[in-house]
Amino acid sequence: MRAFEYVKPTTVAEVIRELGRSWEAAKILAGGTDLLGELKEGIIAPQKIVNLKGVADLGYIRFSEKEGLKLGALTTLAEIAAYPVIRQRYTALAEAARSVATPQIRNIATIGGNLCQRPRCWYYRDENTRCLKKGGPICFAYNGENKFHAILGGGPCYIVHPSDCAPALIAFKASVTIVSPRGKRTVPLEEFFLLPSRRMDHETVLEPDEIVTEIQVPTPLPNTRSTYLKFRERDSFDFAVVGAAVVVRLRGGVCEDVRIVLSGVAPIPWRSPEAEAVLKGKKITPSLAEQAAKAAVAKSQPLAQNAYKVPLTQAIVKQAILKTVA
Ligand SMILES: Cc1cc2nc3c(=O)[nH]c(=O)nc-3n(C[C@H](O)[C@H](O)[C@H](O)COP(=O)(O)OP(=O)(O)OC[C@H]3O[C@@H](n4cnc5c(N)ncnc54)[C@H](O)[C@@H]3O)c2cc1C
Repeated sequence: MRAFEYVKPTTVAEVIRELGRSWEAAKILAGGTDLLGELKEGIIAPQKIVNLKGVADLGYIRFSEKEGLKLGALTTLAEIAAYPVIRQRYTALAEAARSVATPQIRNIATIGGNLCQRPRCWYYRDENTRCLKKGGPICFAYNGENKFHAILGGGPCYIVHPSDCAPALIAFKASVTIVSPRGKRTVPLEEFFLLPSRRMDHETVLEPDEIVTEIQVPTPLPNTRSTYLKFRERDSFDFAVVGAAVVVRLRGGVCEDVRIVLSGVAPIPWRSPEAEAVLKGKKITPSLAEQAAKAAVAKSQPLAQNAYKVPLTQAIVKQAILKTVA
């Protein structure tokens, strides 16, 4: 690992002064559960590490009916999973946070870091492989080992987005506040993640001198229910092979509104308007859930080793819809 300067500022203004105009100049450290792996494995070698943990007012959960839910970027996943209002009113988010990694990791990992974590693709994570994301010529997964790669939205790089919390937050119409030396901006989380066809070097709209300070989630309307369902290879702890966040508003059993966002299948959390359209305005039955699940994967384009993800996604979407309305 290359030597680096280490700083621990105490305010957001100081943090953004420490960041540079390139990713090589400085990287933000939150819980470190992703960043330290990248440093140790030689994937990144920044000149400076800027530790956010010295900033006192970035770890909080606030809720009011009028303003909804606000999560400071340093709030841990364990805090989110345990918070009573989140468990009751934003169930899919609590379930998603609870499904991440192990209790030890959830006690340290922050929501800001969970949204900004880098892909788990084994070619990207291999120090000696210069894949497209690291400025190389090709995506090695395309003709290589692609069991866990994208079936939707892939190309020219086929990573899948790793966060479980992001799909749940997008299903709840969350936004993020971003601060930089140029000021503050708020971006709907649905527009925060970018496909590799739009940006190759990183997965979000963030520039090197920007930080996420807060996540805002509107108050769910009455009769809203939600769930996050995840299939993983190891139940003790693992990333999603496939997951689905479903947020639905019902009136007399009829679906007034619904948002379905998938994980593990695309380079970004993948919203499925096709599946949503099948459910809207109708009474949700097992056969309608099946139709919606089929619609969710209708446009999938599996690679040589991941066609199994198509029926798996279909099954998870169907189960998640039925669990939400049960
Ligand atoms: C064994 C293991 C299993 C895991 N399983 C899962 C899983 O099942 N599901 C899942 O979702 N995740 C999983 N993860 C990933 C884990 O959730 C993330 O590593 C964690 O959420 C990152 O948070 P952190 O605070 O540790 O971030 P860090 O490691 O400190 O940072 C991660 C990245 O985000 C950037 N960053 C951090 N905070 C900010 C901010 N506020 N603004 C801008 N950039 C920022 C950093 O520069 C870095 O690039 C797993 C990780 C491990 C090690």
